[in-house]
Amino acid sequence: MEDCLFCKMVRGELKPDCVYEDDRVLAFHDINPQAPVHVLVVPKVHIATLNDLEDAHAELVGRLFVAAKRIAGELEIAQPGYRTVLNCNAAAGQTVFHIHLHLLGGRRFSWPPG
Ligand code: 5GP
Ligand code: ZN
Repeated sequence: MEDCLFCKMVRGELKPDCVYEDDRVLAFHDINPQAPVHVLVVPKVHIATLNDLEDAHAELVGRLFVAAKRIAGELEIAQPGYRTVLNCNAAAGQTVFHIHLHLLGGRRFSWPPG
């Protein structure tokens, strides 16, 4: 996707502050962190929203969570814990239409979310 912000990061046209990369996943610090640790874990292929997921994406979505768990360990938030969030569409707060898993930690979180 030509104009997609996260596709530009995947292609190397923009250089986020990366914390993890493999053949299918890129992860970087959020530019406007909502917690002491706020990392975005994104697939390297463009998928606009969760509504666009297909059965063939199942392993890839699992990879996002495995990467998040690994990053949580490296950034020392695995204990006492962290939150993962994946917003779908505007009503849930999605602003970048390339799916991304938010990994948030380093403070306590309330429930239910706002
Ligand atoms: P959403 O609201 O779509 O769930 O999350 C989008 C996230 O992308 C937001 O937390 C926002 O701060 C982050 N973001 C937007 N633009 C940039 C950018 O240029 N660089 C980085 N690192 N994060 C961004
Ligand atoms: Zn994209």
